[in-house]
Amino acid sequence: MWKLLVKELERPRDKRPFGSGWISGTLSILAGITAFCLIAIRAFPETFTMPEFAGVHAKDYSTIALRVVLAIGYGLALLSLLLDRRKVLGFFGLALAVIGALLSSVDAEAIGISRQSLYFGLDYFVINVIVIGFLFIPLERFFPHKGDQTVFRPEWEEDLFYYLVSSMLVQILSFLTLAPANFVNTSFDLTDIRTYIGGLPFVVQVIIIMFATDLVQYWVHRIFHTVPFLWRFHSIHHSTKRLDWLAGARMHFLEIAILRGLTAVPMFTLGFKAEAIQAYLLVVYFYSSFVHSNVGWNLKFVERWLVTPRFHHWHHGSEREAIDINYAVHFPLFDWLFGTYHLPENKWPDKYGVAGEDVPRGYWRQFIYPFQKKKITPGE
Ligand SMILES: [Zn+2]
Ligand SMILES: [Zn+2]
Repeated sequence: MWKLLVKELERPRDKRPFGSGWISGTLSILAGITAFCLIAIRAFPETFTMPEFAGVHAKDYSTIALRVVLAIGYGLALLSLLLDRRKVLGFFGLALAVIGALLSSVDAEAIGISRQSLYFGLDYFVINVIVIGFLFIPLERFFPHKGDQTVFRPEWEEDLFYYLVSSMLVQILSFLTLAPANFVNTSFDLTDIRTYIGGLPFVVQVIIIMFATDLVQYWVHRIFHTVPFLWRFHSIHHSTKRLDWLAGARMHFLEIAILRGLTAVPMFTLGFKAEAIQAYLLVVYFYSSFVHSNVGWNLKFVERWLVTPRFHHWHHGSEREAIDINYAVHFPLFDWLFGTYHLPENKWPDKYGVAGEDVPRGYWRQFIYPFQKKKITPGE
């Protein structure tokens, strides 16, 4: 393996012209090595840095530097994989970036950054993209539903920006998210139920959180589909014409705040243990990417009980039979109970998106879209 790597790195000059993936591949490996040095410095600050730089501030800066380096290495590795037929350099660069990201997240916990914020996945944009992307990009490639769809499908930049923005606005979002739950906690005395739930086994608590949040999510989601003013916000989430692991990130800021705030109420008021909440957040973090992903697995044995990509893809379908169905994100049971269940055997929707509406392209245009006066299109 090393011989192969060295051979690729020492490829003759005439065999590595601009655009052959050699430069990006080599630089991605360099970025990976730099990231490992930064991780080592962070882990053993006394050994590697002068005492006066070993304080908290140095750690903050090195964290930022580390994330930037990891992101650059990851991007370059992907570029090299696209360009280079042999893919050796890109593969090594990618492996370094992923291992680096995992190591750095372990380290972040060790130095006391709260696990909660990690699992909320908001201030860890780079690591999120790398870990989730590394998991889903190969899955979508090897088991695709739509085989002709590539990683860099149209409008991927927009969706990556959505991902970035919700990472950057962590403070505002967590404040808004916890506001309704705080209100409930200060207005009602839930001591009895809190004591009862807090005493249940861990797994049972996680399952109850899933049921409770999905029940709230079901109705909030359904109201977003039914009330015309709210639909204008939610139509942004539905505007994507191609679904993959990144597509679920597309959601209007206001909708994120409302949806997260209301679904968080049972989670933060009913006395669940912190570990159960963290486990749920970790589950949901992968699960929401999964249900949007372009993974075409046949999951017949579970799809009646748990939401699968096919179930949620139907929710995004633009044909008539796919309108206003499958609101649940964990348990199809709720759609079955409330009369919105639709899952034809072995069939996927033909097209995704919103029929008859012109949702604009780009984050900022989509941001103001719901507030603008609706243009009447003739013939609608
Ligand atoms: Zn929807
Ligand atoms: Zn969706």
